[in-house]
Amino acid sequence: MLVAANLTRTYRNGTTALRQVSAEFPPGSITVIVGGSGCGKSTLLRLLGGLDRPDTGEVLFDGQPIHQPHPAIGIVFQEPRLMPWLTNSGNVEFGLSNLPRAARRERAAAALTRLRLDGLGARWPKELSGGQAQRVAIARALVAEPSVLLLDEPFSALDSFTRSSLHNHLLDLWRDSGLTLVLVTHDLDEALVLADRILVMKPGPGQIAARFDVSLDRP
Ligand code: ADP
Ligand code: ADP
Repeated sequence: MLVAANLTRTYRNGTTALRQVSAEFPPGSITVIVGGSGCGKSTLLRLLGGLDRPDTGEVLFDGQPIHQPHPAIGIVFQEPRLMPWLTNSGNVEFGLSNLPRAARRERAAAALTRLRLDGLGARWPKELSGGQAQRVAIARALVAEPSVLLLDEPFSALDSFTRSSLHNHLLDLWRDSGLTLVLVTHDLDEALVLADRILVMKPGPGQIAARFDVSLDRP
């Protein structure tokens, strides 16, 4: 299980973006973190993903402290952040290390298929729609088969049709995989569609104001 234990993070300019934040992310749960701009959501997600370190407190994965990116934890950002000099398949393969080329290719192809991107592996990121590019980014995050997927405003740059199609797609992936999802958004509709638990952050920033169990009956 992924656990945030008493995290405090003060940036060099004096902004305290998190104040003693604790939360648990049980296996298979979908937690959505909501709150306005600047309340500390991205900071929390970066700490959970080992991209930044807390000043005090710890992020624990299965009881072990996380100090750097961990293979069991994948991350997707608001912008797909694909490398334009690599094909789509090359971008997905980038999520794998220490595997022979052929095995990387095969794993990347399977990940692209899972995201319904068959046939686009040999093409380039600039040829993709926004929704497709974000699906490549999700494939890259999932190719190493993490047990936790962190998503920071993953759909907010997309039009509403593409967004709701990706909501369904993400829920399909989640159903098939038992992934633990942690998603940051400022879109309350998105939170209600996806979450089984919602953490609301205070403006201020840096603290959790409320926690809700949504316990959806999903089809
Ligand atoms: P959110 O994701 O909710 O918009 P952030 O975690 O990005 O919030 O930011 C929380 C607060 O910390 C904001 O006041 C923001 O300006 C500040 N902040 C975020 N990253 C940095 C940074 N690298 N250096 C200084 N301040 C930062
Ligand atoms: P988001 O839209 O995910 O909340 P932001 O636009 O707040 O992200 O931040 C984008 C990037 O800029 C992040 O890496 C964040 O750490 C950094 N950042 C945000 N606010 C500040 C700040 N006040 N000073 C320096 N870096 C910042």
